Amino acid sequence: MHEWALAEAVARTVEELVVKGRDVRQVEVVLGELQAVDEGVFELALKELFEEMRREKGIDVQGFKITREKAAFKCQVCGHTWTLEEWPVKEEFREAVHFVPEVVHSHYSCPRCGSRDFEITAGRGVKVRVI
Ligand code: ZN
Repeated sequence: MHEWALAEAVARTVEELVVKGRDVRQVEVVLGELQAVDEGVFELALKELFEEMRREKGIDVQGFKITREKAAFKCQVCGHTWTLEEWPVKEEFREAVHFVPEVVHSHYSCPRCGSRDFEITAGRGVKVRVI
């Protein structure tokens, strides 16, 4: 699906780091728990894009590893923080955030005070770390 777009975003980030003078040999690609991704396809896309960067731009990324970041939430009203594991709506929420992210705040609420004003503090998107 969007694995290639994500992989391209990672490749662009790496390229920017190199342009800024960072020595990027090994990277860790952190995928949020809420980021639906076919890791096999994603890994293949990354391999290909890094190979292309090496060939065309002389940017030599020698290796990468893909890790997952746990999702975390914080209520703006009572300050409660929680993880996906602690949330009874876990599977349902995971699907909602994947297919219709804009409904998340109208359907889910803080498990402690019931406020719908919560933020997702971790577990979304893709990050790149140089290792
Ligand atoms: Zn709350």
